[in-house]
Amino acid sequence: MDKSNGLRVILFPLPLQGCINPMIQLAKILHSRGFSITVIHTRFNAPKASSHPLFTFLQIPDGLSETETRTHDVKLLITLLNRNCESPFRDCLSKLLQSVDSETGEEKQRICCLIHDSGWIFTQPLAKSLNLLRLALSTYTISFFRSHFALPQLRREMYLPLQDSEQDDLAEEFPPLRKKDLVRILDAETEQLDSYSDMILETTKASSGLIFMSCEELDQDSLSQAREDFKVPIFAIGPSPIHFPATPSSLFTPDKTCIPWLDRQEDKSVIYVSIGSLVTISESELMEIAWGLSNSDQPFLWVVRVGSVNGMEWIETIPEDFIKRLNEKGKIVKWAPQQEVLKHRAIGGFLTHNGWNSTVESVCEGVPMICLPFRWDQLLNARFVSEVWMVGIHLEGRIERNEIEGAIRRLLLETEGEAIRERIEHLKEKVGRSFKQNGSAYQSLQNLIDYISSF
Ligand code: UDP
Repeated sequence: MDKSNGLRVILFPLPLQGCINPMIQLAKILHSRGFSITVIHTRFNAPKASSHPLFTFLQIPDGLSETETRTHDVKLLITLLNRNCESPFRDCLSKLLQSVDSETGEEKQRICCLIHDSGWIFTQPLAKSLNLLRLALSTYTISFFRSHFALPQLRREMYLPLQDSEQDDLAEEFPPLRKKDLVRILDAETEQLDSYSDMILETTKASSGLIFMSCEELDQDSLSQAREDFKVPIFAIGPSPIHFPATPSSLFTPDKTCIPWLDRQEDKSVIYVSIGSLVTISESELMEIAWGLSNSDQPFLWVVRVGSVNGMEWIETIPEDFIKRLNEKGKIVKWAPQQEVLKHRAIGGFLTHNGWNSTVESVCEGVPMICLPFRWDQLLNARFVSEVWMVGIHLEGRIERNEIEGAIRRLLLETEGEAIRERIEHLKEKVGRSFKQNGSAYQSLQNLIDYISSF
């Protein structure tokens, strides 16, 4: 940490793995620049305070019942959290501001701003009444964040249904999505998110700034468009792994035995498979992935999260002799130290659901991808990977053993894979340069620090 600058930042992440990781990374970045850090968090999915002894953690009650904490319905969860947390958050923040004010004798630590996940929609009037500078952190790409506000209107305009011949056409309202992707994003399930999106837009426009863990090199056109859309200062400070690789902010316990296992594999020979912290699949999809991996005859490291297969505890319905066969070539774990894994010399490819964190972690380590997006921003990230940056192979939603086997072999064994690998190396360097002195992410971070220090 640089010498303390006497300023404290309050951070308020949404309690989801893909939102906690970037917020903790942001905390580490700001702390390294002299800021003290307080993280206000819910009881549900509380970050591990012991992993970050230099930060202060304050827990607020979230009012979730045991059943509610086990739901796979992210929309329901976010709605409940926004409803339940407003008042405890207000109490916590007000107390914090008062306690600092009443300090005597010692040098005062001024609270210079609140940075909350853009998914918290009740923060605006509160920060205003407390006269506190408020910035939002979006854990999406800039491109998805700005375009997803158009979804309610697209739904009203009855975007559906599509002719077969139109499926692969570009969705002009939301490039580089294809129309078939847009249809998946606009399904009935996400309809309930329309009013929530409107609230996020309102809260964002009323903020004093918007932070993205992305950079011009990955999101250039959208960055200038976002500046016009939101009319607040925007800081694209770069993907989190380029600042602090492998920050331990995992909600699950990573199975570290996969590292010595990877040590025993050849360079760039292993396909790593993970669908992140939220996606669930069916039992038959699990079996298709298992057969695809087995038939590819390449070593694999496969994360199957407990509870990620609908109706199953873990992988108990895979027959024992098949498990034995899988274990000859690969390793199945419940959760991996992902950034460490992606860094490992043995990893040759990543079969991913293309959550934004997984996508940028893969880019930052130069690991080419096989794209298997399921929902929401994953569909857009996968198009960027496969069609804009051209650093991955898209499975086009086909969770079928032959498709999976074919994609793994193309990526790891064929010249197509070599070309993809060269392109991702190039992209990795470009993104890395963005964080060197005078690069775009470097400059943006400096601007953010100057900005919050000036209030
Ligand atoms: N992750 C991990 N171990 C795993 C799987 C995922 O540490 O076995 C981490 C991964 O590094 C990433 C986060 O969990 O930082 C998942 O975020 P992402 O945005 O990719 O997907 P989400 O979980 O939000 O769908």
